[in-house]
Amino acid sequence: MKDIKKKKLNRLKFSYAAGSFTGFVFVTLLIFVAFAVMLSVFGLYIADSKIRDENFRAQKQAAVYESAEKTGNEEVYALINEPGNDYIIIDESGKIIGGYGNNTCDLKSGGTIDVLALAQEVGEEIHDNMNIDIGTESAVTVYPDTQLRMVTPGVNGRIRIDMAVLMSTLTSRATYNAVLSSAQGDFVRLPFWIDVPISGGRHMVCKAYFSVYFRELKIFGLLASVIVLLSIITLICIIVYICKNIRYRRKVNELFFMDELTGKHNWPWFVANAEKIIRKSGSSGRYAILDVVFVNYRNFCVCHSVKEGENMLRSVYSVLEHNAGKKELIAHHSAAHFAMMLTFHEKDYLEDRIRRIISELENINNEHKFSFWVGVDMVGSTVDGKITSRRNIDIEREYNNAGAARATITGDDSAIAFFDDKIVEEQKWIDMINENQDKALENEEFLVYYQPKYDPRTNELKGAEALIRWNSPVHGMISPGRFIPIFEKNGFITKIDHYMLSHVAKDQRAWLDSGYKCVPVSVNVSRSHFIESDLAEQIRDIVDLAGTPHDLIELELTESAFFDDKNAMIATIKRLKEYGFTVSMDDFGAGYSSLNSLKEMPLDVLKLDADFFRNDGADGRGRIVVTEAIKLARNLNMRTVAEGIEDRDQVDFLAEQGCDMIQGFYFAKPMPKDDYMQKMSNGSKDAGKEDTGSEDAVLADS
Ligand code: C2E
Ligand code: MG
Ligand code: MG
Repeated sequence: MKDIKKKKLNRLKFSYAAGSFTGFVFVTLLIFVAFAVMLSVFGLYIADSKIRDENFRAQKQAAVYESAEKTGNEEVYALINEPGNDYIIIDESGKIIGGYGNNTCDLKSGGTIDVLALAQEVGEEIHDNMNIDIGTESAVTVYPDTQLRMVTPGVNGRIRIDMAVLMSTLTSRATYNAVLSSAQGDFVRLPFWIDVPISGGRHMVCKAYFSVYFRELKIFGLLASVIVLLSIITLICIIVYICKNIRYRRKVNELFFMDELTGKHNWPWFVANAEKIIRKSGSSGRYAILDVVFVNYRNFCVCHSVKEGENMLRSVYSVLEHNAGKKELIAHHSAAHFAMMLTFHEKDYLEDRIRRIISELENINNEHKFSFWVGVDMVGSTVDGKITSRRNIDIEREYNNAGAARATITGDDSAIAFFDDKIVEEQKWIDMINENQDKALENEEFLVYYQPKYDPRTNELKGAEALIRWNSPVHGMISPGRFIPIFEKNGFITKIDHYMLSHVAKDQRAWLDSGYKCVPVSVNVSRSHFIESDLAEQIRDIVDLAGTPHDLIELELTESAFFDDKNAMIATIKRLKEYGFTVSMDDFGAGYSSLNSLKEMPLDVLKLDADFFRNDGADGRGRIVVTEAIKLARNLNMRTVAEGIEDRDQVDFLAEQGCDMIQGFYFAKPMPKDDYMQKMSNGSKDAGKEDTGSEDAVLADS
């Protein structure tokens, strides 16, 4: 279960991450494709408009040079060797063997400067502010504050200004600076060299210029800005994506690990964190996993409302949370179950601490006192106190162990149970019973034993109780204490009670037919029957099927059923009595007794529990209670049966108090059918002496 959930969570996280990642990659790719397109367009433009021209010029220059070489024509040479046409000739070994012009254009050294001017004002009248006449080739107007403009254009709009002439004609330094700044303000030129192979393995390396106008630079700047902007956007996208992903993961984790009812931690969270903490912890300290159960939760919901019950669960969570320290965990497992992990060094200390937590929980509500069951599993420890490896820790298993320990708690009061090997054995026993019960019923492995009831004054046989025994081919004779509580939990008890009733009814019928002097035989009816509204009719039908008179059958109910559904129980008792059955209250005085239930239930017989006699102190207080109980029963028109009577002294006392019947080892132990038939035949002949029979000796594990 845990693994399936973990896998699902990881799949969810992965699909989200993958989805976001795909989207993110797509957007990023789109942005970079746009960058690449823009840069390529710009690059192509540069290559096309700038470098190609220069390259073309270099090729032409090389061709002219070669033809000048061939023809030896000085005029052609002169065409190449013009200022600006800087080149060198290198041979195969890379040695410079010729050349022309300067390698650089240095204003300070009095070289030349090429000014590419805009011919906006070609043909315009010369202004009178500053007119500079440079040689015969061209005339240039220099506006000191703005730029150099061409009036008479040179070839291809390019004019040459001889620096010496320029310097001599400019009237002031400011004007020169203006010329310079206007020249520099329009464009930048980066020199580079183009290598053109020519004949004889030589190379003509021509100086070329990569000229970029400022308006081009502006475009480039704009493009660069766009690229930077896009990069920033991409970066922001990445950051937003990462933050969003972290937040999403946190949210998914929160939802996945949040308990709907309490709004706090749930079981998967507990498992994940408990395992992490225990695995990481060194050898110091030990951990205990607790299964804490709010016993009264269902009843509380029934009596109040589910909403109030849930509020109580929230309060329980708060108390547990408040009691959890560092490296200790708490989670709501399910319904009334909470999982808790505590640290400890000594078992006694742990038990003491749990007790304190329970007492805090018991008083969580001013109007009610609640009960809590706590099953404890000391992680990795064995019964002999050794601690096993924490690396292979499995919290589900440990919690299950705690649950198994908790399941051994009986009664309704708060209690703590520690998991140990005995519980493992017990669990195996429960499994064995669950597996074999149906087969055993089919094979009639369940036997009916009868325990006679005698009148203490006359020693006369007055009745008997039918008690079940399991004669297992594997485990031998098993006493009911070892399987009845399991049947009560797994629901098989209803089949057993029908089985017993049917066998008793058939036996009684057979004995009647054989001429025995039959006395009423009581059959135990488990409390879980009372949810069936037609229980009285079911009993009547079973007895009628055997054809047994109803007055020979008595039904023993336990008082605990009264608290499950008082009205249903009273209604069933009334109907059973109407049908002519005797109804008795079993185990009166064993835990649940309430005089109120006696008042409300129209019973015929009160069976005083063996506990009254077993734990009678030296001051005889038990006897006082028994005396009063017998009186009370008599006043309510009920007969009394004392159970578990083992000695003569008790019999005498009960006879004196007017107890109607005695069921105990003093007279007889539960016995097989044949022995009981013998007792019926004898009547009171063998009663009145302690039964030394050895039924217990044949009971396995009783
Ligand atoms: P219970 O109905 O209270 O039965 C009386 C128990 O007290 C019997 O134990 C009986 O053997 C024992 N007992 C009687 N006299 C003495 C005595 O002098 N000393 C001592 N130490 N014990 C005495 P048993 O047969 O082991 O049954 C235990 C319980 O199992 C019964 O208590 C009853 O609650 C349940 N049980 C037995 N048979 C059935 C059955 O057929 N159906 C149901 N629902 N429960 C049954
Ligand atoms: Mg009984
Ligand atoms: Mg009893």
